[in-house]
Formats: sequence, structure tokens, C-alpha cells
Amino acid sequence: MIKVEHLTKYYGDFLAVDDLSFEIQEGQVYGFLGPNGAGKSTTMNIMTGCLSATSGKVEIGGYDIFEDPQKAKKLIGYLPEQPPLYMNETPLEYLEFVGQAKGLKGEELHRQIRQVVEQVRIGNVANRRISALSKGYKQRVGIAQALLGNPRVIILDEPTVGLDPLQIIEIRDLIKELGKDHTVILSSHILSEVQAICSRILIIAHGKLVAFDTPDRLEQSLLSQNQITLTAKADREEVRAILKPLDQVAGLDWEEREKPFTGVRITTGQKDVYALAAQVFSAFADARKPLVELTPKKASLEDIFIELTEGGEMAPPDPAPSPEKEADPQ
Ligand code: ADP
Ligand code: MG
Repeated sequence: MIKVEHLTKYYGDFLAVDDLSFEIQEGQVYGFLGPNGAGKSTTMNIMTGCLSATSGKVEIGGYDIFEDPQKAKKLIGYLPEQPPLYMNETPLEYLEFVGQAKGLKGEELHRQIRQVVEQVRIGNVANRRISALSKGYKQRVGIAQALLGNPRVIILDEPTVGLDPLQIIEIRDLIKELGKDHTVILSSHILSEVQAICSRILIIAHGKLVAFDTPDRLEQSLLSQNQITLTAKADREEVRAILKPLDQVAGLDWEEREKPFTGVRITTGQKDVYALAAQVFSAFADARKPLVELTPKKASLEDIFIELTEGGEMAPPDPAPSPEKEADPQ
């Protein structure tokens, strides 16, 4: 449905989108996840034909957004980060204006307006001034305008930003509903949000795509990152011998401790990191070597998000690493 190839955007000499390539299939809800400044809005503005790219290609349903913008744009409805709402108008007046700009007219225009008003549930405020509406309702009006023209893809830039918790739930439910008969792409800097709504997650950091998967598979690829950190009153060889029979121990990273203590970080593919911690405890007890620290740590999607967006594992290394952030010795 959408193909993005080697998309790059410079603002002056600042590289905001760095050689981004991905494909969006029809019928899923995609989440662009990344911290502020990652390049999400820039990417969406380019994909929707609102901003030019420095280089690269965007195809919507087979139409090039730069070469065939009118046909490509017909397939997309876009809610930008700052939707251009006209505060002095009512939602109905505003939707009529947007619908006309999209080339709708007559009975078809009014039929579609009735349909989107119902879809986003703004019937009760349709004749009030937009300036008097709550942020949640304003956001619904913004989504309604994106739906006009019946586009196959709906692109929503940070649709829940600035909303209160109840409004957030309502907008998320609305997006899930839209996902039933549209391809939806939304951006967010909140991990739990894309986990709750999206069936595919694209993690973007520093203008680069650092992960693209289902929430489940992203979480699973983390399981191998469960960790147990321990400190024992023993030397390295003793610690190694005690841990050797535990076949769930996947890796050992030694850590500096004062003598006669030894510190080690165990990585494990075992899901139940607490069960392994219990076995480790028993193994040290059996060997009569005192454990003075034993800290199991379950990796979460939050951890991987932080790691990825800070330029961890899957991101290519920086050409000039800063001195306080040296890579871990492997
Ligand atoms: P996100 O939406 O992920 O927060 P943006 O795409 O808005 O990220 O911005 C990516 C980077 O590009 C940021 O560092 C931002 O400061 C910069 N940027 C965005 N728009 C402009 C602009 N018009 N001129 C210069 N720099 C910009
Ligand atoms: Mg943004």
C-alpha cells in the first residue's frame, strides 16, 4: 500500500530523516514510535505530500507522492500534529470546507459529512464553534476531516497528545475502530500507547528505522535480554564453576567488585528470570559461597525502546562515540 525508499530529509545541514525505508501493508494499524525529535512528523509530512524530501521515494498505492501527488493524496487522510482547524467555524462548516477542497460536492459531500460526524461521534457538537470545544472534541473534528473523501490510509500525527486520560481512551478506541476498515498509521512517543493500539511498530530514532515488528515479536526478541546481576564472595573461577551446571545461563559479563568479591551479570533466554534466580541462589548455597547481591531484571519493551532510541544494539554505531557513553566490552 505504501512504499518508502531511502527517504532522506535535511533541514539546512541538519539530517532529520536518515535513509528511511519501509513498507506498509493494507489493513493494519501501524505505530511510528520514537522520542521527540526522532523525525516522525517530518516523515509523515513527506509521506502525505506536505513537505518535500531531500532524496528518496514515497509511493502510495502505486502513485509517486512527488510525481503524481493528486492521485497519491486521494488515498490518504492526514491529521497533522497541529491540525489547521478554523476556530470560528462550526464542525459542520469546517467539514464542508475541507470536503469541497477534497473535491466533494452536492449530495455526496453531505452524505460523507453525515457519515464522518457519526463515525467520530461529534453529532452533539456539530453546530457549536470549534473554539468552544474540548481538546478531545477538537481532535475528533480533526480526525473527521481526515476521513472525508473516504481515503484508504489514515495518518495521524500524535493523535492523543495534550488530551486528558479519559479523552485518550476515547480517541484510542476510535482509532481501533477506524483500523477495522482503514490502514492506519499513527505516531506517538508513548510506548504503551502503540502497544495498545498498533499491530505493527516502527521504532524511529535519530531519523533512522531501528526496529519494525509486531508488539509480540518485539517483546519476544527481548526475552533473551533478561538479566540477573549477582555479587558473591568467591573468585571468578569459583563463580564460573558454580554457574556451569545451570544450562539456562546464556552469557556471563564480569563486573568489577572489590576483593574478595566477584560480580557478574548473567543473561538468560529463560522467560521466568525469578525461577533462574532461585536456582542460582541454591547453587551458591550448596557450594557454601555467600551471595551478597542477587538482582533479577526482566527486560521490558520499555527497556528495548530506551536502548534502541539511545543508539543501542540495533542502531549502527556513531562515528564518534562520546567519552561518557563507551560501548560495553563484549
Ligand atoms: P518528531 O515528530 O519525531 O518529534 P520531527 O520530525 O518534528 O520529530 O523533527 C525531527 C528533527 O528535525 C528535530 O530535531 C527537529 O528539531 C528538526 N526539525 C523539524 N522541523 C524543522 C524545520 N522546519 N526546520 C529545522 N529543523 C526542523
Ligand atoms: Mg512530531
